Amino acid sequence: MMVLDTSEIKADARVYVVSAPSGTGKTTLNRRLVQEHEAVQMSVSYTARKKRKGEIDGVHYHYVTADEFKARIDKGEMLEYAEVFGNYYGTSLKEIHRIQDLGKVPLLEIDVQGWSWAKKRLTNAVSLFILPPSIEALWTRLEKRNTEPLEVRWRRLKTARAEIALGHIYDYFIINASVDDAYVELQSIVINGKNGSVGNAQGRVLCAKLLEEFDEAPWLKQLSQQFADKLR
Ligand code: 5GP
Repeated sequence: MMVLDTSEIKADARVYVVSAPSGTGKTTLNRRLVQEHEAVQMSVSYTARKKRKGEIDGVHYHYVTADEFKARIDKGEMLEYAEVFGNYYGTSLKEIHRIQDLGKVPLLEIDVQGWSWAKKRLTNAVSLFILPPSIEALWTRLEKRNTEPLEVRWRRLKTARAEIALGHIYDYFIINASVDDAYVELQSIVINGKNGSVGNAQGRVLCAKLLEEFDEAPWLKQLSQQFADKLR
């Protein structure tokens, strides 16, 4: 990745970053926040993945081809980017400036990989990691979506494990056991500028517990075995 000049990002302006393993409900929470609070605007990312049904160009993402995406990287336009599930996703610097110039607070929804990279550049950002109450609850949510084959769900769960293992790079943690409670916490941090109730030290402990569940729960061992057998 090339080095960017981020000096134009206003050092005193607030920026919030929200990450979460897929199925944790971050999109629902973030959308509600920007709908209810005009002062916050979602940064619209670029992606090279195909548009899903119901998605709108310029609203959910800026949809580009992989070549167009690479050209933006080469021009130094991306603050960060990552390949998630085989597709490029990234945040452009211009988008953050656009929101800041409107006098609004940018909210970035990026994956853990992207944040581990952008963290060094967005030093003024407050980062939030949304966690499921348990791995079992996460699996149930992925099952309920019911839009993907079992293998894809399993891949998402394994990705979630890798992401939770990197949870220590976040400032605050929100446990999404109840959407309403999680929303109140998100609002308190982003809108009211309060400290989160679960900080880095406590968050690390929660992540460790989730990882333990992932590695030790009998149903997960069984599932893991099932896929290992399939791939043999
Ligand atoms: P989806 O395809 O379901 O919309 O998103 C898949 C993943 O891409 C999510 O984990 C989401 O957080 C991540 N993602 C979306 N936009 C960005 C971005 O601009 N940068 C990075 N690094 N990840 C992103």
